[in-house]
Amino acid sequence: MQAHDLEHDIDPIRVARLVNQLQPREMCFLRHSFTSEAATSVLHFALKQSSAVFITVTEGELTEYQDAINELAVRGLAGICVMSKTSPEKYANRFIESHVDSGDLRIIELHSKAKALFGEKLEIVFEFSVEKDMRILGATIDRLHKAGVPWIHFRLTAEPTVDEIKKMRDLFEFLRMRECFYLNVYFDLSSEFRHSWQIKTMNTFSGLTDVHIDLSNKCTHSCVFCGLYSPVARQLSAEKAGGKLDKYMTDLMRMEASAEKTLGILQSLPCDVQSLQFGGIGDPLMHPQAVDFMVLARERGFKVEVLSNMEYLEPADIEKLTKLGGKTGTEIRFIANISGGTYEQYKLTRPLQTEKAYEKVSRNVRLQKKKKKENNGVGAHVTLMYVINKLNIDGIAGIADLAIDLEVDDIWFKPMELHGDYTWKVMPDPKSDAAKVATNLRTAVEVLDKRKIKIFDRESCEQIIRESRF
Ligand code: SF4
Repeated sequence: MQAHDLEHDIDPIRVARLVNQLQPREMCFLRHSFTSEAATSVLHFALKQSSAVFITVTEGELTEYQDAINELAVRGLAGICVMSKTSPEKYANRFIESHVDSGDLRIIELHSKAKALFGEKLEIVFEFSVEKDMRILGATIDRLHKAGVPWIHFRLTAEPTVDEIKKMRDLFEFLRMRECFYLNVYFDLSSEFRHSWQIKTMNTFSGLTDVHIDLSNKCTHSCVFCGLYSPVARQLSAEKAGGKLDKYMTDLMRMEASAEKTLGILQSLPCDVQSLQFGGIGDPLMHPQAVDFMVLARERGFKVEVLSNMEYLEPADIEKLTKLGGKTGTEIRFIANISGGTYEQYKLTRPLQTEKAYEKVSRNVRLQKKKKKENNGVGAHVTLMYVINKLNIDGIAGIADLAIDLEVDDIWFKPMELHGDYTWKVMPDPKSDAAKVATNLRTAVEVLDKRKIKIFDRESCEQIIRESRF
């Protein structure tokens, strides 16, 4: 999501450069200036880049530039955000008398008028700021929402004061009482104070920021720490069910997200979602449409994270995924659960995997990095994940060589967690194994530091080394 002020930004070229990064369905808000040629050029450029561009206009501009707005609608404008302010002094009595149609009638009529002017072509939303008397604003927002306005934007100029926090909390309470459960209230999407307002006012109307979608429970691997696919899990399940995996287990292993539902979720997620993680009890890339979902998530401008064993990608997928990268290099990130620096080490953790599988996994990581280089550094970020378990403690130091060989962006040493009631058998012992884990980690970190390969969650890693405890 991007937001820019074309009316006051003195450097439209800088904005144009940012707009150049817009994804095809990424939400973008532009405070437009109808009289500036430079602003109009940047806006036209944004409309070519994304199908989700909104302009912010004043009430007066809405009618004054009706023809220009219609022309922008033809060019693909998604909507208009109207900057408004209620007039409590005029409508307070109606509110106090509990009129069912209380609120600022002028704004409500303006919305109907805008709907009539721009038909179904454009989404009409409103932008307000904290007002002296919020009662009329609350009633107005309630009525706008009931008339079809999906979200409201609040402009911000500074950190919230105690009075503003109280007013916003009261407003949210009012909206809850009026059952505006599907309304989104966003604080200035371009403001540095946004996060602070969000937390301090306890805004539950803003929607999600970090989303995790379980795509698939299917997997062909056999990680010893896996609650579903570890050989021990399978064996115990089979013992219980007389030789075959029990039905609960096989049903669970077959489950995957419905494509229709997943597409619906991806399309309806609020515009200020920051990151989307694809996972599952199995491997998300086992879902036949996994790559399509990733493409759609990136098109909406979300950062995408994928937890995978890295075996199921083919070169054509990697080609597609490379194009989803962006300027920061972390727009698409793979957390590659490999947990072994050589095939011998890999097999300790995945007893059923062949050397061919290990080679494919390595090839896929290597290919992602190669494609990223060919694409001028735009492509997937790869984090090599090493799940520390009882069987791969000796291999911790050796994973550094693989990280260097595959040129991964960083490496994540992650002590295993319990999954299922039997994986405790491969849990490192916090007492007897801790010193060895710490020593091997120290060696790995020294090598990685020399080669300038970053450690993800370095703090936790250093704590294990320092305290010999996890
Ligand atoms: S790759 Fe993931 S899902 Fe598959 S066996 Fe290993 S931990 Fe389980």
